[in-house]
Amino acid sequence: MPPAALQDLTVAVLASGSNGNCTWIGAGGRGILVDAGISARQVQLRLDAVGLPAAPIDAVFVTHEHRDHVQGARVLSSRLGSHRGRTVPFYMTAGTARHLPPGMAPDAVEEVGIEDILRVGPFEVRPVSIPHDTADPVAWRVACDGVSVGVVTDLGRATPPVVDLLRGLDLAVLEFNHDLEMLLEGPYPWHLKQRIRGNQGHLSNEQAADLLYSSLGPRLKQVVLAHLSEENNRPSRALAAARNALVRAGAEDRVQVRAGSRYEPTPPIRLPLREG
Ligand SMILES: [Zn+2]
Ligand SMILES: [Zn+2]
Repeated sequence: MPPAALQDLTVAVLASGSNGNCTWIGAGGRGILVDAGISARQVQLRLDAVGLPAAPIDAVFVTHEHRDHVQGARVLSSRLGSHRGRTVPFYMTAGTARHLPPGMAPDAVEEVGIEDILRVGPFEVRPVSIPHDTADPVAWRVACDGVSVGVVTDLGRATPPVVDLLRGLDLAVLEFNHDLEMLLEGPYPWHLKQRIRGNQGHLSNEQAADLLYSSLGPRLKQVVLAHLSEENNRPSRALAAARNALVRAGAEDRVQVRAGSRYEPTPPIRLPLREG
């Protein structure tokens, strides 16, 4: 059967937050996941819920070894089994592979270097190093027919490679983890507050908004605010910070913003491709 015509690049953020992260990206009858931090059952339930019951999963790209990004990997790997005569590969850096929590390793780990460009179906995928307190964490850039999506979460600060990555995107899944005031006044112990706000922790709303402003490229159309803290953030605060950044940049009319959620998937976001 010939591959389906490329019409849209479709993105659904299935889960986003400290208890599980997973994003599906599809085009032309092929699909991939970024992170497997929810159960295989939840992956399918959430794809069903947004009208993507037959969404293919040809590969999984893991950002880092924290449980909220890998805890579904083992079971998902065995459920997906063999696809087109090949076990579905889980791509990750060697550092991530070495530090996967016990019992969470998928069947087929494919180690990637930071210079690698991977091809899966119509997708060209590459990792970008990010600062986070794990062995070798990355963001992922997924390009298809000239349209690019980035999944950029779990980073303590902006770096030049991250700014470069964001500048070329059509759709950014970008961490807006915490409101600094809520974090500092909230219930977490001091050491945890320091970890979260540290250079290898998570982006605050303010940091993420500054990053969005300073990296805003001409192609950007969609932003999904990701990895919002339940205790230390509110969607309304994250959305206000992001919208302020877009207003400052004069881009509020062309960029749509929504917040990802730990409880429910975003609807499929469709980006038109040239072919079709
Ligand atoms: Zn995380
Ligand atoms: Zn993390």
